Amino acid sequence: MPDIASEVRRRRTFAIISHPDAGKTTLTEKLLLFSGAIHIAGSVKARKAARHATSDWMEIEKQRGISVASSVMQMEYRDCVINLLDTPGHQDFSEDTYRVLTAVDAALMVIDAGNGVEPQTRRLLQVCRARNTPILTFINKMDREVKAPLDLLDEIERELGMTVVPFTWPVGMGKLFHGVWDRRADQMRVFAPGEDRRGGDEEILAGRDTPAIAQRFGLEWQQALDELELVDGATPPFEHAAFLAGTQTPMFFGSAINNFGVKEVLDALVELAPPPGPKPALQREVAPTEPKFSGVVFKIQANMDPAHRDRIAFVRVASGRFERGMKLRITRTSKEFKPNTVVSFLSQRRELLEEAYAGDIIGIPNHGLLQLGDTLTEGETLQFTGLPFFAPEIIRSVEVADPLRTKQLKAGLQQLGEEGAIQVFRPMAGSVLLLGAVGQLQFEVVQHRLETEYGVKARIGASPYHVVRWVTCPPENGGEAELKRFIDANVHRMAWDAVEAPAILLDHAATLRAVESNWPKIRFHAMREHA
Ligand code: GDP
Repeated sequence: MPDIASEVRRRRTFAIISHPDAGKTTLTEKLLLFSGAIHIAGSVKARKAARHATSDWMEIEKQRGISVASSVMQMEYRDCVINLLDTPGHQDFSEDTYRVLTAVDAALMVIDAGNGVEPQTRRLLQVCRARNTPILTFINKMDREVKAPLDLLDEIERELGMTVVPFTWPVGMGKLFHGVWDRRADQMRVFAPGEDRRGGDEEILAGRDTPAIAQRFGLEWQQALDELELVDGATPPFEHAAFLAGTQTPMFFGSAINNFGVKEVLDALVELAPPPGPKPALQREVAPTEPKFSGVVFKIQANMDPAHRDRIAFVRVASGRFERGMKLRITRTSKEFKPNTVVSFLSQRRELLEEAYAGDIIGIPNHGLLQLGDTLTEGETLQFTGLPFFAPEIIRSVEVADPLRTKQLKAGLQQLGEEGAIQVFRPMAGSVLLLGAVGQLQFEVVQHRLETEYGVKARIGASPYHVVRWVTCPPENGGEAELKRFIDANVHRMAWDAVEAPAILLDHAATLRAVESNWPKIRFHAMREHA
């Protein structure tokens, strides 16, 4: 039987983050090529095609089926087992993405060299930065006319607040893109266009002073040399510890579509990105190499068939060895169960399907047994922390068209809330439920699913609220008694969330500031961690 420590050591679990159209799908496909998982690459393409086919919730319906299979991809490269987690794109963008980022140990940021840092990249990166997730940076589309590389470097440093250390540097761009200079190996990899190359067959030219390089690449080479001199002088040496702490990011240039510069990133991922580390639980810290299995549900996905309320819980293994047929205990309910089917994610080697170690993702189909944030163990009472819920940015009221179906509405919202599809708030005074979301599309999805899965026509309407904050009061400030005083004084604008945590709903950020200064002992939270 494989030894747990060596299995953990060879795991790399990461997500690609990018703004739509920067090249995430293309890059994913090329990364999979290196592991020989070509059939999977095909399915990535198919998924993308499905995404482009239509543009509203219909497509989400379709995707729910497809994306269960492609939202986690496992591959082998060199001696590593790599788990690549997909983060939903803009159209179905929601809090899901944030939670997926809690399940990875590193992130690969893809930037379109023509557009620089774009809004969604910035947003996703903030989540990574808050968790000190190590980040690798890939500057894509160098085969186009793009921003000057030095400007890109500056922009990323400024916008993202981290030190960028270029590992490669481009020679030319667009039609005159000649390749990248590898600063560590002191050699140039010459660019050759072509979609279906596996890589590794490029021409390599060594030594900055080689006259042949200067002759062949003329002005672009001269420019790259000048830039490299600046870069050498201005950027600090790469420090692995700073990368692991999320304060330095190694940067690579390339063209995903031409499979150029991609292998360098994959190699860096294997060499630099960390294997799974210890995870904090309320009771204690859990080491990935412990013999007993533990894991946490970070995502719940409903199945395609509306007639079956099947859901798949995505569990990231935190410790031990997961084996098929194992009996598991859910800490929240103390219930024990033996999942008889476990979805394993695409991989090209059969033995990978039979067991899972820290860093791996398993999918457990269930009918509501498992909720977001649940911890599974072999028996120990453990509750992992750190699964974030963000204060919604859009708040709507929800009512049922036919009052006789109020019960169904509540049941449906409860389940959709548990999945994390939407946040449900129950005002302490008044009976109209409120829904909170990070993205507008979440409401459309919820409305559609309430109708098809629960037979409820819901009316989603305006609400006077624009700001939500969870409230707590630390013991040294008066604790529960002070919190109760606050709630009583504000009961007309207080609500309970899905786990009975109190929250205040406000019309305006300015009102929030006023409330904050009137109640200095109360803490107002834009994020709640599941615990
Ligand atoms: P995603 O939305 O981030 O998954 O982006 P895609 O991978 O679908 O890429 C968006 C578009 O950019 C597609 O039309 C790709 O063919 C194109 N693309 C991706 N990589 C490159 C590249 O290196 N060079 C050029 N010129 N186009 C690229």
